[in-house]
Amino acid sequence: MTLAERDRNVIWHPYTQMKTAALPVPIVRGEGAMLYAEDGTGYIDAVSSWWVNLHGHAHPYIARKVAEQLQTLEHVIFAGFTHTPAVELAERLLQILPKGQSRMFYSDNGSTAVEVALKMAIQYWNNLRTPKKKIIAFRDSYHGDTFGAMAVSARSTFTAPFWSYLFEVAFVDVPVCGKEEETVKQLEAYALGGDIAAFIYEPLVLGTAGMVMYTPEVLDSLLQICRQHSILTIADEVMTGFGRTGRTFASDYLAHQPDIVCLSKGLTGGTMALGATSCNERIYEAFLHEDKSKTLFHGHSYTGNPVACAAGLASLDLLLQPETQENISRICRQHAAFAQRLKPLPYIREVRQQGTILAVEFEDTTTSYFSDLRDTLYSFALDHGVILRPLGNIIYIIAPYCITPDQLRQVYQTIEGMQEVVAGNRPYPPPDHTMLHD
Ligand SMILES: *Cc1c(COP(=O)(O)O)cnc(C)c1O
Repeated sequence: MTLAERDRNVIWHPYTQMKTAALPVPIVRGEGAMLYAEDGTGYIDAVSSWWVNLHGHAHPYIARKVAEQLQTLEHVIFAGFTHTPAVELAERLLQILPKGQSRMFYSDNGSTAVEVALKMAIQYWNNLRTPKKKIIAFRDSYHGDTFGAMAVSARSTFTAPFWSYLFEVAFVDVPVCGKEEETVKQLEAYALGGDIAAFIYEPLVLGTAGMVMYTPEVLDSLLQICRQHSILTIADEVMTGFGRTGRTFASDYLAHQPDIVCLSKGLTGGTMALGATSCNERIYEAFLHEDKSKTLFHGHSYTGNPVACAAGLASLDLLLQPETQENISRICRQHAAFAQRLKPLPYIREVRQQGTILAVEFEDTTTSYFSDLRDTLYSFALDHGVILRPLGNIIYIIAPYCITPDQLRQVYQTIEGMQEVVAGNRPYPPPDHTMLHD
């Protein structure tokens, strides 16, 4: 039996309709932006393995730091105990995070980082004896797959079975170009209505919505209204953090800084599962009390795992190196030039770029996330040695920063080739490839 067949006997994959999915590609090794399959085929990882990888696969520096930590201290309970990697990572993150952040709370993924943020915000108002009930969020947002995170995310097909279990959220439209004023009005109306605990947002880029982008100016307007009405602000930088938008954090483009920040994905350079929720001193102080009921009663078995924190520290070392910063700038420039070339071509509805994130929206020759076009484009890319996971008719690049200019050109060529597929809307290959969405 092949590995893929053994997999099929025992594994249930994420976001995958197991009945119709093609057999998974068995990956045996990674190096730089490349992943290598069992049969020797190389793939350019143009999606950074679900947006987590910053510096390439099996990076020797991160591997060394992780190995050293494993031989020193693999884990310790994080209530009543502490250790160097957790403290040092918090110190170093707080130095580079948006101004005002002063405390770090660890968890183990992006969804839990969001859960912690929501609990901080809701309990903050409880602790002040002025409970507030509602959260404002963008209608098309994605904040994770746990229940609280699902509640503040889009009501989509993916969460439909759970809708009745999700708490009520005040949704506002994403302020894309031309819709800015509408969103400002919607948020203002909710703010005036009162009872709003917090506003949670993906700053500048909504990833899962299809790399939907909006300007720092309109976000600043929204944050200003929140400030005026004492609404706490939560920046979900799980996807946008660590250089993706061209600056270290998307919040670095803004004048108004958030009260709470959620981090994960690139936090460890894509090596280990780690989540972190930071907050400012105002939030933190609302939990300090003789009365034990004011405590933030939240934690996970692997909270502050030393090995994950060591990976985080190693990834930060690499991120701040001039070479990495130059790569980020170079990717921004290459993307901008490619976007210009692509824009006038037929069947391209829109090309969007924010820093190292590039999204190409094809004309919808079919429609919906479950359209054949999505599966067709996915298979087409794989057959051209590139991993690209379309969100419906939207294809995006979010690559490790070490991707070479040549590798990036191969990714661009593959996307240009998709043009023809969209034009003919011809099935490619025969439709037994039907892995679902992201
Ligand atoms: C991926 C993502 C999450 C969830 O993170 P997981 O580690 O997958 O749970 C939350 N927010 C945003 C913006 C994300 O892109």
